[in-house]
Amino acid sequence: MNLLLICGNKMLSNYNTPVTNIKGVGPKTAEHLSKLDINSVGDLLEHFPRSYLAYGGLKKISELVYDEMAAVRVRIDNVGNIRRVKNNMTLLTLEVSDDSGSMIIKYFNMPFMAKAVRKGGYYIFRGRVLKSGKEISMVQPKKYSSDEYSELSGKFQSIYPLTKGLSNSQVSKAVSKALEIADFTEDYLSDEMRKDLGLSEIKSAYRKVHDPGSLSEASEGRRRLSFDEMFFFVMYLRKNRELIKDRENTCPMVESAEVTRFIERLPFKLTKGQSKACKDILADMTGNHLMNRLVQGDVGSGKTIVSIIALLNAVSNGYQGALMAPTEVLASQHYRTVMELTKDLKLPFKPVLLTGSVKASDKKKIYSDIESGEVNLIIGTHALIQDNVVYRNLGLVVTDEQHRFGVRQRENLAAKGNSPHILVMSATPIPRTMAIVLYGDLSISAIKDMPEGRKPIKTCVVGESYRPSAVKFIKDEIEKGHQVYIICPTVEADDEDEADPELKNVVEYTERLRDTLGEKYRISFLHGRMKPSDKDNILSEYARGNIDILVSTTVIEVGVNVPNATIMMVENSERFGLSQLHQLRGRVGRGQDQGYAIFMTAKDDEKTSERLGILGKTNDGFEISSHDLKTRGPGELFGVRQSGDFAFRVADIFADADLLQKASDYADSILEKDRHLSAPENKLLKNELEFFGRNYLDFRTI
Ligand code: ADP
Ligand code: MG
Repeated sequence: MNLLLICGNKMLSNYNTPVTNIKGVGPKTAEHLSKLDINSVGDLLEHFPRSYLAYGGLKKISELVYDEMAAVRVRIDNVGNIRRVKNNMTLLTLEVSDDSGSMIIKYFNMPFMAKAVRKGGYYIFRGRVLKSGKEISMVQPKKYSSDEYSELSGKFQSIYPLTKGLSNSQVSKAVSKALEIADFTEDYLSDEMRKDLGLSEIKSAYRKVHDPGSLSEASEGRRRLSFDEMFFFVMYLRKNRELIKDRENTCPMVESAEVTRFIERLPFKLTKGQSKACKDILADMTGNHLMNRLVQGDVGSGKTIVSIIALLNAVSNGYQGALMAPTEVLASQHYRTVMELTKDLKLPFKPVLLTGSVKASDKKKIYSDIESGEVNLIIGTHALIQDNVVYRNLGLVVTDEQHRFGVRQRENLAAKGNSPHILVMSATPIPRTMAIVLYGDLSISAIKDMPEGRKPIKTCVVGESYRPSAVKFIKDEIEKGHQVYIICPTVEADDEDEADPELKNVVEYTERLRDTLGEKYRISFLHGRMKPSDKDNILSEYARGNIDILVSTTVIEVGVNVPNATIMMVENSERFGLSQLHQLRGRVGRGQDQGYAIFMTAKDDEKTSERLGILGKTNDGFEISSHDLKTRGPGELFGVRQSGDFAFRVADIFADADLLQKASDYADSILEKDRHLSAPENKLLKNELEFFGRNYLDFRTI
């Protein structure tokens, strides 16, 4: 589960008009759209494309590059028989050629394609290019006649996030109708401000983003929407600062002897950064004001123990503590860690795990235990701050990784009679100046050092020819008692006809690996569509050392901690963002042993090796993130970075760092002159900000 911060625009007087009022959107489409949380005209306009595709010119077969989307005009040399392949699928193979070479076209479960082409005929096929040895192929490409294709050629297609039963063209059509009827009022950013910032007018920004004439137009539109998102976020923080800052300490504590005892008994010495963070936290909790603190530290810097120390102090002072994680997998891991520590070191914790997938009957008991004070440490996903949870005396809330505890949620808790101390843990690598803007209302403790004895992870980027050595290396590490992660990419469908091979990848890969390596190795797999309880079982087995190799999608990207794992191998690493690869390799080298990251790439070109090569050169998360941007593919304007604390819908704190600073400067200067936004020229802005605060500055489950 991810939490997403979303921004909206009230600029639209018909924002809330239901999608069913749009011509061409029937009840069935509306039902599918609602699965994507799209229910109104406004929602549709804010369903932004994931990327853009250009229908480029035709290529020759000999010019095709692995993994690109390309179109070729070819002659059908042979239409193969329809064969049954595994998983009860059918496979049709076409042999095709042009004057530069030949290639194979494969259609799974589309037997009718055999009739749609004629041996000796010429057609255009557009799809993703695959290469294996000498063989060039496309799987499920789209077929066009020359006329059809020349009509499309040179155009841009917006690619939207989809759900089962909904096609890209259905979404495109609905969005363009929504754009037609969207009733924008006057822009709340003055002409002067827009001119100064070089931003598009709001209405045209939406048009540019959904229906750009060129990539640069799309990027102009995106820039305006990013600015708005960050601007209102910062404005809201600034305006509500007094709600957060310097509030009376309603959960006063003393520094408990349990904490000192615990730190002494830990099997390791706290790093300087960890000690300082603990000191800051204890000073806050024993001070005059409620704590609102951020602990920032790169992956592996040991933030969990810091949060446990804070929780221990709260519990020892007779309060309840809550630890909130972004995923169930991570929540269970924390729960296990706490259970073990509690047992080994006889800590006064009475922990309970509360996540969305806990059975309703068990939940009832958990709720009553929380209300009666039977349990004093509640670990879970954001299920633990939902309305039906009533705490007896909540003194501290810790949120770990990836999302902020929203201002609004703090207000909600306060309204329930709880004004706990707040501690936020983050691995998002941002410089202090940026953190001050984004976490404006929080005090910051930065952990800059790594635990002693940590060895930097050895990273290599290699091609297919290295595979036998990689396999041998993996076997050797397992021989030594270590464990291995192998990550397969989650390939998103580029359009409705491209099958989503996520499941197949991980599952088939595991099967193949079992065949290659034999019975001797314990291999399991993990992917996002498994039941939470199954995921959890696999991970705890892995954590206990009962699995040698875990084949997984990126579900393990955030926070998973198994110090005995020493190899992180990533297949098709060219498909991942650099920051994501950095997070992934952070899963190994978390103990005393040397960690290794093997990034396999099938794409053999200079740009790819240069891009991935950065990972071999630096371990600095911020530098890696910044580099990620520069090397981003054309058309990938949206949603490249899914992880990080600031799941803005459009804005990217790295790509838009300059805009963020400007948004912050503008927010300051406007509020300085007109604190309550009561001047007539700020009326529109005030409305918009209220709308933002009411409807959007909240966290929503996706
Ligand atoms: P992150 O900051 O990424 O959340 P964790 O808190 O999961 O990192 O810590 C990573 C690993 O480092 C854990 O196995 C933890 O027990 C260990 N660890 C934490 N602090 C220290 C320390 N001071 N010395 C040695 N190991 C430590
Ligand atoms: Mg962590």
